[in-house]
Amino acid sequence: MGEFDLIARYFTRPVRPGGAVALGVGDDCALLAPAPGMQLAVSCDMLVEGRHFFADVDPEALGHKALAVNLSDLAACGARPLAFTLALALPRVDEPWLQAFAGGLLRLADAHDCELIGGDTTAGPLNICITVFGEVPAGQALLRSGARAGDDIYVSGTLGDARLALDALQGLHPLAAPALARARQRLERPTPRVALGMALRGVASSALDVSDGLLGDLGHVLRASGVGACIDLSKTIDLIAASTYPESAACQFDANYLQQCILAGGDDYELAFTAAPARRAAVEAAARASGTPVTRIGVVQDQPGLRLVDAQGRAVQRRYASFDHFA
Ligand code: ADP
Ligand code: MG
Repeated sequence: MGEFDLIARYFTRPVRPGGAVALGVGDDCALLAPAPGMQLAVSCDMLVEGRHFFADVDPEALGHKALAVNLSDLAACGARPLAFTLALALPRVDEPWLQAFAGGLLRLADAHDCELIGGDTTAGPLNICITVFGEVPAGQALLRSGARAGDDIYVSGTLGDARLALDALQGLHPLAAPALARARQRLERPTPRVALGMALRGVASSALDVSDGLLGDLGHVLRASGVGACIDLSKTIDLIAASTYPESAACQFDANYLQQCILAGGDDYELAFTAAPARRAAVEAAARASGTPVTRIGVVQDQPGLRLVDAQGRAVQRRYASFDHFA
């Protein structure tokens, strides 16, 4: 099968009429027609074999994750997904693999009305690069720079399960089958918090998605906003979902390891955001409306830096580093 047959068979579908996509796959450019008063939100993420996923990963899950990590960036801006492009380097044409990969990719795309409008396909070491386009009312995007002293700090969903699964799959520790299955879902099929991000427009003062680890990613918000923060560790320990399985983590691991997974695990794709205390009811309403639990874990402060405290407010030494490709 040649390059153009491959694109036609797996990555070309009719464009939905009446949407923001005026022209999809097949020409030199796709055409997007954002509605008046909207800004285009654009983000790009690359997944590299051996770096972001194992060579033998389920291709259906890989297709899902490649788009999910990009939708997560739109969610962090409060943008509604419109479309995406797919640049793909493939070592060979493996039709069952392509079928499964495209299935996982396009099912998530359909769930978010996000259309595949173009891309590039070449032979080479397996590499997947997606660019997503979303829309957000002009001036309403959630930015990293909007946190103010006194704001509450929240995180959505659960944290740390992806790291727990990764460590188990790499043989660092055993994990009982049900807990591994659940944690592995979070590693391989993350849920982009798109509905929550959109519901937080006009409510959150800042937001970002947690991809490299909570503390490191929060640091980006604090620096961009010129503020500091204090995190109450007693509010974060319940954030790990797999540990609620009695046969697994809570009793199996020491609290330090679980804290490390939660605070610096990476690959979570939850939203961390800030909001003024006066907006607590609005935050809860956004969480309910989007079906996404949120947990308040700390407070923004004038003093720069990130401080950790226990339930009694006593300082706790920070020894968790987030992921950095070049560190
Ligand atoms: P060009 O010659 O301009 O590089 P290509 O021949 O690479 O264009 O691609 C032909 C058409 O197929 C273009 O519309 C391009 O956007 C689309 N395309 C190529 N690869 C993919 C892919 N993996 N997924 C979706 N569309 C693709
Ligand atoms: Mg090309």
